[in-house]
This record gives sequence, C-alpha cells and structure tokens, in this order.
Amino acid sequence: MVNDSPHAPPAASRVTGANRRLRVVQGLLAHAVTRHALAWLLLAMAASQHRLPWEGLLGLIALTIAASALLPAMARRGVPFHRFDPGLFGPLTLLSGIALFWVALMAEPADRWWLLACVLPSQLAASTHLRGPAWRHASAFVAFMAGALLLAFGLGNPLDDTLVAALTGMMAAPLLPLWSIGRLRHLRARALKKWLLSNDRAQGVFIQRFLIACLCALSGIVALEYGASVGFIDPQAARWMTYLAAVTILSFYLVTRSGLNQNLHDRTMTEPKLLVCVVFLAFGYYLGGIGRGLALTLLVTMEMFGMFMITPSQVARISAFAAVAFSVSMLAVVRNETDPGQIKLQGVTFGVMVVVLTVMSWLAQQLGLLRNSLVRRKNELSEALERIQVLATRDELTGLVNRRHMIELIDQRIKLGARSGTPACIALIDLDHFKAVNDTHGHGVGDEVLRNFARAMKAGLRDTDVVARWGGEEFLILLNDSDMAAAALGIERARLEVARTAMSATVPKLHVTFSCGLAPCEDSVPLEKLVDLADQRLYEAKAQGRNRTCAIMVPMAASHASAKPQAAVHSD
Ligand code: GH3
Ligand code: MG
Ligand code: MG
Repeated sequence: MVNDSPHAPPAASRVTGANRRLRVVQGLLAHAVTRHALAWLLLAMAASQHRLPWEGLLGLIALTIAASALLPAMARRGVPFHRFDPGLFGPLTLLSGIALFWVALMAEPADRWWLLACVLPSQLAASTHLRGPAWRHASAFVAFMAGALLLAFGLGNPLDDTLVAALTGMMAAPLLPLWSIGRLRHLRARALKKWLLSNDRAQGVFIQRFLIACLCALSGIVALEYGASVGFIDPQAARWMTYLAAVTILSFYLVTRSGLNQNLHDRTMTEPKLLVCVVFLAFGYYLGGIGRGLALTLLVTMEMFGMFMITPSQVARISAFAAVAFSVSMLAVVRNETDPGQIKLQGVTFGVMVVVLTVMSWLAQQLGLLRNSLVRRKNELSEALERIQVLATRDELTGLVNRRHMIELIDQRIKLGARSGTPACIALIDLDHFKAVNDTHGHGVGDEVLRNFARAMKAGLRDTDVVARWGGEEFLILLNDSDMAAAALGIERARLEVARTAMSATVPKLHVTFSCGLAPCEDSVPLEKLVDLADQRLYEAKAQGRNRTCAIMVPMAASHASAKPQAAVHSD
C-alpha cells in the first residue's frame, strides 16, 4: 500500500522501525521467560512430587512457545502495541492470567494456593517494564508483601522440606523488580548475556544454537520423567538418564564457553553432539514403553539441526550410526516383548526409520549443494560490490578519489569542522602547459605523467590529506587539520616532491610543474562557492607566471558576503 501522507516516514526508516520493534519484543519475551524460570522450576518440582499433573506443566510450556511465536509475529506485522504499552505489560499479563487459571484448574484444591504463589510473584515482577520509578517501586512492594504472606502461610502448613526450600527461593522472585530499576536493568541483561554466551561473537552464536537444541533435549527429558511418574518407564533408569543428559549438556556447554573448542577442527562440535544425542535417544527408545515413538521424532529434529551445520557426508554418517543404534535398541525391545503384534511393529518402525534417515541424508545433500551455491553467489556479489565501490569512488587512470566522492568527503569535512572547530583547506591544482606534453610525447606519455604526478602528490602530502582527480589534469586536495599557513607549506612540500620525480620512464628528463589556488573550508561557505574561490586563486597563479600557489588571505565568511576576496602569492 502506498502511504501518500506528507508526514509518512520513508520506506527505509519504516523497515528499521519494524526491526527495532521486533528486537524490543524479542528482548521483552526473553525477560519474561527468564523471570518465569524460577516459577517453572518450582512447578517442575511440584510435578515430580505428583502435586501438579505433568500435563499442567506441558500446557504452560506450550503457552510460552505460542507467545514466543505470536508476539514477534505481531511486531513484524506492525501491530502497534509499542505506542500505548511499550513493555508489553498487557499481552504478557493476559498470558500470565491464562497460565494462572490453567495451574489453578489442573492442581488439586489443597495445592492450589502455593502453586499460584509460584507464578504470581514473577508475574508481578513483569511490572518492572511499567513507565516511571514510582510505579515500579509500588509493584515491587506489593510483590514482596505477597511473597512474604504466601511464605508465612506455607510455613504453617505440613509441607516437606523441598517445598519449603522452594518457597524460600520463591521469596527472591519479588525482589527482581527492585534490581531492575532504570538503566541497571539493561546493564544486567547485557552482562548476563555476555556471561552466558561469551564475549566472542562467533562463540556466542555457537552457544546460542546449542542452547536452542537443548530445548529439544529438555522436552525429551520432561517426557521421560513424565513416563516415569505415570509408571510406564523404570523411574530409576529415567532418573539416571536425566542426570547423564544434564552432565553431558553441561560438559558441551563448558567446553564451548571456556573456549576449549577453539582448537578443534569443527568448533561447533556438531558431529560429536549428534552422535551422543543418538545414543541417548536410542536408549530412550528402549526405555520409553508406549511413548518410545517420541525418540524417533526427536531424532529427526536433531538431524535437521545437523543439516544446517555440518556437511552432507557427516549427516550420512550420523544417519548410519542412528540406524545401527536404533536397531540395537529395537532388538532389545523385541527380546523383552511377548506380544507378537508389538514385535511386528518394531520391524515396521525399523523399516520406516531407515527410509526416513535415507531421505534425510538426501535432503542434507541437496541443502549442501544449495548452501555451496549460496556461498559462491555471496562471494561473487561481495566481489562485485567491492568493484562497484571502487568504480564509484575512484578515478580509473590515477586510482585517486574521483570528483563525485570528493564532493561527499568535503561536504562531510565541512560539517565535521563546524562541530569540532579544527581547520581544513582545499587546494585546486592544474598542471602547467600539459597540452604541450601531450603534443610533444603523445597521449600515452601524458597518461603516464598523470599517474606519476598523482603518486608524487600523495607522497609529498600527509596521509590524512585527500587527493582527488577533479577532471583532466586538474586535481583537488583536501588538507585536513591545516590552517592556511600549514596547507601552503604542505603544497610546497608536494611541489618539491613533484619536481624531484621523473614523470615518464620513456622520457626520463620530463618534469612538470603545477599552479595552485588555496582556500580555507568554512562551514558558512557552500562547497561550490569554495571551489569557485580556489579556482579564482588558481587563475591568478596561472596569470602570475605558473608554478606557484595563490591563497585567500581574509576570513572566508567575510569574503563570501562581500564582493571579491583579496589574494596573495605564496611562493614562486
Ligand atoms: P595551462 O598551464 O594553462 O593549464 O596549460 P595547459 O596546456 O595545461 O592547458 P589546458 O589546461 O587547457 O590543457 C589541458 C590538457 O590536458 C588538454 C588535454 O588534452 C589534456 N588532458 C586532459 N585529460 C587528459 C587525460 O586524461 N590524459 C591525457 N594524456 N591528457 C589529458
Ligand atoms: Mg586545465
Ligand atoms: Mg593545465
């Protein structure tokens, strides 16, 4: 849709606005999830003690995942919550309300009060995003009081030690708003992210991907514990697997976080991670009873992670390993099985699994080809872009900055000078009697002279000065951090260098001179006027016999306002 309002922002700024909103929403969601982490832990403990059905916890996880997908999608589509509710307090409160209602619905009446207490303080902590410190202090106070009351009530009840410890931990949650006041909140979020993901950007990306993959592992562990709690998985074996998985995840995390992975060939360690994951899943398949199908779902998801990060041959290797590992656990299942239907089912499952793994390997190969061609095209594009940038900003013959780019640079310099107060000058230079060089030695030698002249000028000037080919045998120089006296000195240094330089290999005795008009950059003087004044001085230098510099001697602002500036010859 075309927005023809005169106040409509340009398309580019609208896009950045949407991106910024999206980032804000993602940040707020991350905040909300972190805030609720403690509550989740408590609810998971409650579920493991049969105080809350596992379905209750799974429902909350599903709600969070839905919110994480829905709110950024709304931000992407430009739903304008940022106008009236920048902290997403409304949507997040609504979601937490649903969560509270859900928990209350699932829990036994006797357990309701403290389960609600798990979620309530972290929900109140969401008010840290309210505008104004007074609101935040008030909400912190209310949250703290709510936590204290709930704790007092909890201690009077016959609860076991774990739950009392959990409730004590919960007391810390209402303190979150007090921590998170003002800028400190941002500092802490950034510091926590750095601490968790490391300062190194590449390492941070590896860890972030790993943590996302860990979500899958976590869902597997939750399913395993659920199976154990309802009695179709051996609880002891499930507990051991949970511990082992936790240790494995922590080990991989620590290896990356400590930087030990830097010495490895594949710093992401994707292949070993996937191999370990296959072993866990195969074992989970054996243990899983009627829920063992979940292990196959997770296997496919994990392979998909691999497809994006490792080579097709590595994916094929992992698929082959998975086929072997799962066939071992299927054989083990068959050995313990007496029902002939179940035994046949294992055979069918094996067949389907082999087909799926083969197809995944083929897909990985296709993806690999696509990835290679994307990389190739990206390289070609960046090379082309580099070439275009050079063409757009450089002069082909001399390699100097071209006229268009020089105009931008001087414009920038004038604006910068206006703020910093450091002086700068421009010098317009024209080679003397250059037509004669062409006429006597030919155009080829003329070109060679222009190239060598450019080199000599650059050698004679400071690195911070910019030399541009202004057109033909005219050059414009921007002398940064120089007043008129320093600029004139710089030009004379360059003049000596030019005089010393042999301008042509074929005509060794050929030397050239140049005339120069010098003018100071002043923010009140527009670029065209500046060049015009330098040109007038150049004309005077030519008129006075060439091979010299003429400079403006009065402040430009005055000369710009009045008619004609005075000029002076600096050198001969
Ligand atoms: P003056 O001292 O008055 O500047 O004398 P001049 O001979 O340099 O006079 P003018 O500036 O009018 O001559 C410029 C000459 O520069 C004419 C043109 O053939 C030559 N020229 C311009 N661009 C190029 C180029 O890219 N290569 C070569 N070889 N010559 C060029
Ligand atoms: Mg000329
Ligand atoms: Mg000339």
